[in-house]
Amino acid sequence: MDKTQAWDAVLVRLSEKISRMEFHTWFKKVRIAEISGGAVLVSCPTEMNKNWLESKYHGVILSNLRGVLPEIEKLYFNVDLTLADGPPSNPSVFEDRKAPRKLPNRPDVKIAEGLESRIVHAKFTLRNFVVGDENRLAHSACAAVAEGKKGEPKKYNPLFIYGGVGLGKTHLLQGTANEIMRRNADATVVYTTAERLTNEIVKAIRERQMEGLRKKYRRVDALIIDDVQFFEGKEKTQEELFNTFNDLFEFHKQIIFSADRPPVELEGISDRLQSRMGWGLTVDVQMPGYETRLAIIQEKSKDIGLMLGSDVQEFVAANVRRSLREMENLLNQIQAEVELRQLSPTVQSVSKIFRKLNPSDNLETADGARKGYAKSPDDIITAVSEYFQVPATELLGESRKQGIVFPRQIAWTLCRDVLRMSHESIGRDFGGKNHTTIMHGIRKISDLKRKDSATARHIHALRKDLGVK
Ligand code: ADP
Ligand code: MG
Repeated sequence: MDKTQAWDAVLVRLSEKISRMEFHTWFKKVRIAEISGGAVLVSCPTEMNKNWLESKYHGVILSNLRGVLPEIEKLYFNVDLTLADGPPSNPSVFEDRKAPRKLPNRPDVKIAEGLESRIVHAKFTLRNFVVGDENRLAHSACAAVAEGKKGEPKKYNPLFIYGGVGLGKTHLLQGTANEIMRRNADATVVYTTAERLTNEIVKAIRERQMEGLRKKYRRVDALIIDDVQFFEGKEKTQEELFNTFNDLFEFHKQIIFSADRPPVELEGISDRLQSRMGWGLTVDVQMPGYETRLAIIQEKSKDIGLMLGSDVQEFVAANVRRSLREMENLLNQIQAEVELRQLSPTVQSVSKIFRKLNPSDNLETADGARKGYAKSPDDIITAVSEYFQVPATELLGESRKQGIVFPRQIAWTLCRDVLRMSHESIGRDFGGKNHTTIMHGIRKISDLKRKDSATARHIHALRKDLGVK
């Protein structure tokens, strides 16, 4: 068996063992350069690719190689840049079946005859949901609900989870569905969206099959309905729902709702349905803070086989502030770029992607990050020194020349406004000046700003350079 055949055999084995995405990312242009004396040299198209294989796949590759060439004992890697522009090492393994971005994973959802559920993705679990202060209550409520026993009265029924877009509601709902099924293989769990349920009800009403539909839902052990704000204004649907829910409550079936608002704020939903929805436990999910976001980024990038430096992780965590879906999009885009160009992501390349996704509102932040983002007085001193073309040492010194004093006072102002530093600590960082000097300087700039538009413009431009509005 020659080296190409050996590698082909290894690729086929690996393609069955690791995710399609990882396989494509890390093996496409890799090949065996040499086999000699029980050792194999594997060539990779990039340094990053080599490091990744060395650290993550060394054992897997070696054991699969031994499957075809038992005499192999050692594995080495090197970089061969010419591979980057070449064809895939084995076109047939890589070309067909283009990897879907997300691998929909359909677990065995046990659904009775005629009863359908939306696909519940196995990737959403309660265990891989990262818990922080902003979602802790919702997560524990879901965990408690999943522990409920069939046919017994429920602790929280219904459970109502609300919060803005992309904050993890669907993850929690599907995670709970998975957990219920994991604990109880016989459980009939239906996860559906309010939109789909509405369509079902409308159809049943039209075809006079409502009795059948209600009977059908009575067989469910847990009914999970996502995005119930969609029921707003749909009176007939609500009436049928109300009856169905009553049936379910009566027989101690668990119901879970999610919405973008709490029940009381839903408009165009009948009072009795609203009060039904809020009858059990109502909890919210909020946008997680920085630390939790960082943990989620780590979890998600691990999931998709994306290697990010800590500076990039921190940059993403600092800048995705509204929705975790936005964060997920971003990570997928980064992943696509890595695959496409075989480049490891940097803060700079990521801020470009950021700007593509959010041309309007994240522009300045991304720009700031690209230029370094103001974190310390040093950042401000550097920016001011570049902007006014005065040496940093002069900004810290004692010179009374107007060409120096003005930029220096601007720098103090920025330290105060952007970094919220005290007059004392600004004085300390600027060569040991008295806090009253700093105070006067800052006051002078704020007077100037009111009288003279140039000063305001300088400050505005510098803030932009520093990545703050
Ligand atoms: P919603 O339904 O509230 O709009 P999703 O549940 O679809 O939001 O969440 C958007 C993305 O963010 C999903 O990929 C989800 O897995 C992820 N996500 C949200 N919260 C968390 C969390 N706490 N831990 C891990 N992933 C999360
Ligand atoms: Mg959702």
